Amino acid sequence: TASSASGKKYVIATDTVFAPFEFTDESGAFVGIDVDLLDAIAKDQGFEYELQSLGFDAALVAVQSGQADGVIAGMSITDERKETFDFSDAYYDADVTMAVAAGSSIASYDDLNGKKVAVKTATNGSDYAKSIADQYGFDIVEFKDSPTMYQDVITGNTVACFEDYPVMAYNIKQGAGMEMPEGTTAAGSSYGFAVQKGQNAELLEMFNKGLADIKANGTYQEIVDKYTK
Ligand code: GLN
Repeated sequence: TASSASGKKYVIATDTVFAPFEFTDESGAFVGIDVDLLDAIAKDQGFEYELQSLGFDAALVAVQSGQADGVIAGMSITDERKETFDFSDAYYDADVTMAVAAGSSIASYDDLNGKKVAVKTATNGSDYAKSIADQYGFDIVEFKDSPTMYQDVITGNTVACFEDYPVMAYNIKQGAGMEMPEGTTAAGSSYGFAVQKGQNAELLEMFNKGLADIKANGTYQEIVDKYTK
């Protein structure tokens, strides 16, 4: 294609640890649904890229400042973000959930009154927690990454955190020592690949075409199954 012929290598930013979408496996390889989807789409469309694992907030800033061409980081497509980003077609649905330490007495939002709650900076889960903080009377503590946020809840500094459901469910299955109280899941938005608004239209178009191709040929489902089954 024109992009690879011209030697263009897109810089794509992502999160550090957001399993099963991006994380480092036991062998030290950086893997996950986002990582594999991007690779399959790039191969399908014939473009080259360099993936930079920066952290979620930092990945968004990198795209907004033009230091990265795109971001794939389990990033929810929201109206607010559409003011500064152009999004691909949605590739994964995710609700937002509250999670607590296993065996915690916190069972509902009402139990958060007067307590500290952990969120991850610049996320959808953080926005949601902030939107109900006054109503339920809790204080918010921000963290840069998901594992540090979970650890704070497990050690009991904060009594709960807000995280994307598929990510929390995966981590609980992997033995994170946390649980999701019933009735604490709220509607979230689907994930999309994003570029800076008005920039990299060609990259966005290739992502959409590649995504459609790998959905049609079964690769998309294979990738999702590999990490979630
Ligand atoms: N889906 C959430 C968001 O876009 C969280 C993403 C993440 O933590 N990597 O805000």
